[in-house]
Amino acid sequence: MADEVVQYEVDGAIARVTMNRPEYGNAQNSAMTYALDDAFYRAAADDDVTVVVLAGAGKHFSAGHDIGTPGRDIDTSFDRRAGLWWDHVGKLGGESRYAREQEVYLGMCRRWRELPKPVIAQVHGACIAGGLMLAWVCDLIIAADDAFFADPVVRMGIPGVEYFAHPWVMGPRQAKEFLFLGERISAARAYELGMINRVVPRERLAEEVTTVASKISAMPRLGLALTKKAVNQAEDAMGLQVGMDSVFGLHHLAHAHNAEVGADSLAGQDARSMRDARQRDEQRRGQLTADGRSGEDVVDGPREHERPAASSGGGS
Ligand code: ZN
Repeated sequence: MADEVVQYEVDGAIARVTMNRPEYGNAQNSAMTYALDDAFYRAAADDDVTVVVLAGAGKHFSAGHDIGTPGRDIDTSFDRRAGLWWDHVGKLGGESRYAREQEVYLGMCRRWRELPKPVIAQVHGACIAGGLMLAWVCDLIIAADDAFFADPVVRMGIPGVEYFAHPWVMGPRQAKEFLFLGERISAARAYELGMINRVVPRERLAEEVTTVASKISAMPRLGLALTKKAVNQAEDAMGLQVGMDSVFGLHHLAHAHNAEVGADSLAGQDARSMRDARQRDEQRRGQLTADGRSGEDVVDGPREHERPAASSGGGS
């Protein structure tokens, strides 16, 4: 269905999962999170599917977590699947925030990383903050030459997004630069860092992903599953999971500090204020393009005072 937040289609051995909130840069609300989970579950269970592709409809892969669109559903209850944490709705402060983010951000990403079939992220346009988490849980990342990547949440006083894979997907020193600056990096730069597998011209992206997926699909299902598990286990042995758990505590210290001393757990920031801050920074650095714009506005959410009242948890 064209109006579903996630579209699912099967083409031979390939399942295509497409995020479908193009008017908001595919900003990820909980409705999308659970629709993604449905799609991944379906792909895992279908014996005819060997490889899964995750893509975004419209101009961008994903602008990140929904921190301000009209569809922001932070105070809506969903049936939880990633773990046994209780519903965050109706809880206060850190309890609400922690229960929510364990489930919909960290827990879901970990669950998807363990999908026992190869998953390819097909990335074009923006892949920002929460969008990185979606790309990083995939096994391969194939990007268009117009793709760009950033985790700007240090501006909120927060040490990176909840699925803290940064030092493992690009190396510790590069992760520090990526986070300290919070700047967008190009697909070419992401390739140099080893964060993505291939960069192709925008018009060839879908074709390239299909070619790679088709080649992979010729391999035996169990061989692929065990190979994926082998590499994931090696990453875990390199500290990915325990590192992520320890940083999740720092992440929640930051949310709590923000809520304690400021407007909210996001330091009063939303999509629009983050964009404005980035543009001010770029202006200071003289990075404006010839026409005076500093790049596309990925998501244009309501300002802080327009947010739905009584949002209990943090969104980033
Ligand atoms: Zn958070």
